[in-house]
Amino acid sequence: MATSYDVVIIGAGTGGYVAAIRCAQLGMKVAVVEKQKALGGTCLIWGCIPTKALLEHAHALKVIRDAKEWGVTIPAATPVVDMNQVHTRKDRIVNGLTRGVEFLFKKNKIDWIKGTARLAGNGKVDVTNGDRQTLDAKEIIIATGSSARSVPGIEIDHRRIITSDDAIGLKEVPKTLLIMGCGAVGVEFASIYRRFGSEVTIVELLPQLMPLEDEAISVELEKSFRRQGIKSLTGTKVTRGAAGADGVDIEAQTPDGKSQKLTAELLLVATGRGPVTSGLGAEELGVQMERGYIKVDDLYRTSVPNVSAIGDVITLGDTPHPQLAHVSSAEGILVAERLAGQDVRPINYNHVPNCTYCDPEIGSVGLTETKARQRGYDVRVGSFPFGVLGRAKMAGETEGFVKIVADKKYDEILGVHMIGPRSTELVAEAVLALRLECTVDELVKTIHAHPTFSEAIGEAAHATHGAPIHL
Ligand SMILES: Cc1cc2nc3c(=O)[nH]c(=O)nc-3n(C[C@H](O)[C@H](O)[C@H](O)COP(=O)(O)OP(=O)(O)OC[C@H]3O[C@@H](n4cnc5c(N)ncnc54)[C@H](O)[C@@H]3O)c2cc1C
Repeated sequence: MATSYDVVIIGAGTGGYVAAIRCAQLGMKVAVVEKQKALGGTCLIWGCIPTKALLEHAHALKVIRDAKEWGVTIPAATPVVDMNQVHTRKDRIVNGLTRGVEFLFKKNKIDWIKGTARLAGNGKVDVTNGDRQTLDAKEIIIATGSSARSVPGIEIDHRRIITSDDAIGLKEVPKTLLIMGCGAVGVEFASIYRRFGSEVTIVELLPQLMPLEDEAISVELEKSFRRQGIKSLTGTKVTRGAAGADGVDIEAQTPDGKSQKLTAELLLVATGRGPVTSGLGAEELGVQMERGYIKVDDLYRTSVPNVSAIGDVITLGDTPHPQLAHVSSAEGILVAERLAGQDVRPINYNHVPNCTYCDPEIGSVGLTETKARQRGYDVRVGSFPFGVLGRAKMAGETEGFVKIVADKKYDEILGVHMIGPRSTELVAEAVLALRLECTVDELVKTIHAHPTFSEAIGEAAHATHGAPIHL
């Protein structure tokens, strides 16, 4: 195998492997260093794919439990989930996709260098995998991603106090599960294990679930979770978690400052993820860091020439950087095109779709109503409930709504927020609308097929103009 490359990429997650393919497409000779046994990184092995596979199992269980509604007779009294089969199916999906990335590497003549990479300066990357080899690179892209992190007072033992990496592989459904943190990871696992039969409690420091979403979405999610029997303790801080033989004793501080004791079989820490840079040699090379993240400019250049960084491991400074698979991939493509000499433009993070696959699903893009008001817009909003749609009634999925936030002066759509069936798919239309700087009127005049869930978007546009047809 060669040791001299146009580009060496460290990390084969959705940032690194997509950057590699694009670089290869553009004629560069590429190597990717990856220390795990498979390609695909957090998304394919520990994140997006296994969690969504588990959510599909949870959904299947819901449909089967509602068999009577569908006119299907199932003799067994209470359908339960078989975790062995769940993991077999989930692992089959994960393995198929990681092997798919290997195939793409071969197809694009990308070398996978197995091992742990360290920046050695002057365009050199040391790779350790038992023995050591050194690669020469004209350009280096750091795409080392992130890993789960805890908070003071909570020590992860991967047995009783676990992270999402452990939660995707539980052999048995816990009787009680306490989830700390209710961003996307927290609420998705709440949906999975509640459907599988756990008693689930979510504890969130901030006053609302999914704190980055529009407040109306958070309120609707909390209502739905309550109906499903998921308990939400918002404004509550977990201060201590002690693992014992049978479970975890948890101390929390309630919004009024009182101490509350909770117990659960398992505590899932879902309080966020931190950058992976340990042992990488970035600081020693003089790469500017910020709170442990690699600082980049808006075209993902680090402070060291010919070294770029993308994905979960970076910070852009002022703007919070979304840790999302599709963001890392978009950044990887941009860097590849910049290295190939193409005219590239910075990514507009306001146009990044946020999808959460809990039940009900959430999809959003752009400004929330609060943020739009804070930015001084004369805001106009409109929303439309899925429950009115024929398509939603047929599917038996009538929760939620689509809400549009628009600027009254120019009628421009500033944000679209939805919770309910297929929201993670429907949001694509809203992303395009924002990217094309659409007005609400253009959305009103866009014909939505009948009967579809997407009619809720058209109707929400009508509602934003004060005239929904079916309300
Ligand atoms: C439970 C969970 C669910 C998620 N669900 C979604 C979702 O539904 N949608 C979504 O968009 N995002 C989701 N995410 C987030 C998404 O997985 C990440 O944003 C994405 O994987 C980031 O890609 P990346 O390439 O930056 O890093 P990663 O995917 O973390 O990849 C980094 C790779 O670098 C390798 N590496 C690190 N250091 C070295 C080294 N020194 N040498 C060699 N290799 C190294 C690692 O082994 C890893 O494979 C989820 C995350 C989690 C944890």
